[in-house]
Amino acid sequence: MSVLPILTWPDSVLTQKAAPVGAVDDGVRALAADMLETMYDAPGRGLAAPQVGVLMRLFVMDAGWKDGERAPVVCIDPEVLGYSGEEVPFEEGCLSIPGIKATILRPAGLRLAWTDLDGARVIAALDGVPARVALHELDHLDGIVIFDRLGPETRAAALAEYQAATA
Ligand code: ZN
Repeated sequence: MSVLPILTWPDSVLTQKAAPVGAVDDGVRALAADMLETMYDAPGRGLAAPQVGVLMRLFVMDAGWKDGERAPVVCIDPEVLGYSGEEVPFEEGCLSIPGIKATILRPAGLRLAWTDLDGARVIAALDGVPARVALHELDHLDGIVIFDRLGPETRAAALAEYQAATA
């Protein structure tokens, strides 16, 4: 396993739509293991394959490890089956946009299907922080970052803050 370099915005890979993974082979399992190591090292709660330069529909997450035991989840070819609850605000960061926090409105929960590392299809209902992490990572698979979830004025302010921080 190895820690991979994380691309930072505005790298063009971060704005592209990722392609389905399909069959889970040793290459996919190795990528997932490296992504988990990279996520824990960063440190972060989630990491999507495009963030390490791989345009595949795969993300890893562990919403609670900073407060307890590690419980890594690998979501391959995820598919949203439905959303639940109101849209709620939550302050998000992104490993590809270091130094920026933005309050984003997203659904409180979702039902998500994905393929696991054994190639089995899994369905789970996610709420709270796990739902938030999954929704953020799902956006990365479609080339969407937190800037894209902000209104025009908030986006301009966040971009200016980021540009100042990275200048
Ligand atoms: Zn992110």
